[in-house]
Amino acid sequence: MRLHNDSATEAFRTEFSDWLDENLPDPAEATERPHSSADTPAWARAFQAKMFDDGWLVPAYPPEFGGRNAGLFEQLVYFEELGRRDVTRSFNPQGLGIVGASIVSFGNDQQKRDYAIPILRAEMMAALGMSEPNAGSDLAGLTTRAAIDGDEFVVSGQKVWTSGAHDADMILAFVRTDPDAPKHKGISALIIDTDTPGVTRRPFADITGPDHTDFNEVFFDDVRVPRKNLVGELNDGWRICNGALAHERAMLWIMWSQGLDKMLREFLSELRGTAKADDPVVLDKVGKLVADAQSLRLLGNRQLAKQQRGLVPAEQSILKMMGSEAQREVALLAVEALGPAALDQRRVPGHSSVFASDKHVVTWFNRYLFGFAGTISGGTSEIQRNIIAERVLGLPR
Ligand SMILES: Cc1cc2nc3c(=O)[nH]c(=O)nc-3n(C[C@H](O)[C@H](O)[C@H](O)COP(=O)(O)OP(=O)(O)OC[C@H]3O[C@@H](n4cnc5c(N)ncnc54)[C@H](O)[C@@H]3O)c2cc1C
Repeated sequence: MRLHNDSATEAFRTEFSDWLDENLPDPAEATERPHSSADTPAWARAFQAKMFDDGWLVPAYPPEFGGRNAGLFEQLVYFEELGRRDVTRSFNPQGLGIVGASIVSFGNDQQKRDYAIPILRAEMMAALGMSEPNAGSDLAGLTTRAAIDGDEFVVSGQKVWTSGAHDADMILAFVRTDPDAPKHKGISALIIDTDTPGVTRRPFADITGPDHTDFNEVFFDDVRVPRKNLVGELNDGWRICNGALAHERAMLWIMWSQGLDKMLREFLSELRGTAKADDPVVLDKVGKLVADAQSLRLLGNRQLAKQQRGLVPAEQSILKMMGSEAQREVALLAVEALGPAALDQRRVPGHSSVFASDKHVVTWFNRYLFGFAGTISGGTSEIQRNIIAERVLGLPR
């Protein structure tokens, strides 16, 4: 099968590619790396703002939010170009992809002006407060309370895994505003400025080591939040939760697919010349992963074609699960095949992760450990399998 785009789509690619040629930051000046997913060095802030101003930050958005009303296939070639050149659009991915996107979709004009646009232009850093100690996969079970008191909400409770919260200016927090309603119905979304009295952020390290501190516990002790910070309608937060995660989800497979290709190429180049280079067991696993990469691309294209025809594709869960698991498998294969060399900091070429400092993912072993993140965040593999079983295969709950 040969897939190709029409000439208008390819012209769009050329336009973006030319823009990148002209505007990509000078690598010599772009050396400072972020410490967390809500810390953005000055050079990256300037680049993100330029993307916004020129309508290349989120092409699907209208120009006032940094886009150009791009169609699905234009978005496809846009992400292909970003991936091909390893360009990071934003070092605050939850700000761009979830928090900013939610306010663009559900916020009022003032919230769009005061929060969405500054987040999209990297003038403000954002964190996402969904998960709690007892509410992750079962997010609707969240218990952080927000009681109405005059013109304010009074918020009490705890969030966890809040990426980048210690460097963020605001948190989009999902809170329970009606404890008596069925659990999906009593949730609201609030913008909480992190310098409000009663907000405590406690960063903690993840499995990849003490150098990488992006997660936070966030405690709210009678935090008073103005009513104007309610996003959308009272008790309608579940719709925002679902909407928030849907933004650009349709395009995430391109990143999984390109990331997988890149990791496979890097691994194969390191394997060459080692004792395992001709090992049939290793090569068999490589073959399986190459086939996975190809399946991912074809399924992704099928999903896009369905969307273009106005259908709601069921492939998204398959793509998320396959993409994240295959990346972790490449890293595991590298760890097994390279042995102690997988701990060698110099072996993986400079990796521009959006998540952290270079130190974080620079060894194959760290890449393997961090590979679990992809299979957990945004819905675990088990939850994706449940969705596939029910919605794709039609099995009973
Ligand atoms: C890198 C990373 C960044 C994150 N950033 C954020 C963030 O910024 N903000 C935020 O709010 N959250 C964030 N999270 C949290 C993430 O959303 C949760 O980890 C995820 O939703 C899973 O919830 P949990 O950790 O509570 O696990 P649980 O839901 O407790 O699940 C534990 C295990 O049980 C399995 N399980 C649960 N329910 C079922 C079921 N019904 N059927 C089968 N198996 C099931 C799960 O698959 C998992 O293996 C982040 C997570 C990661 C890894």
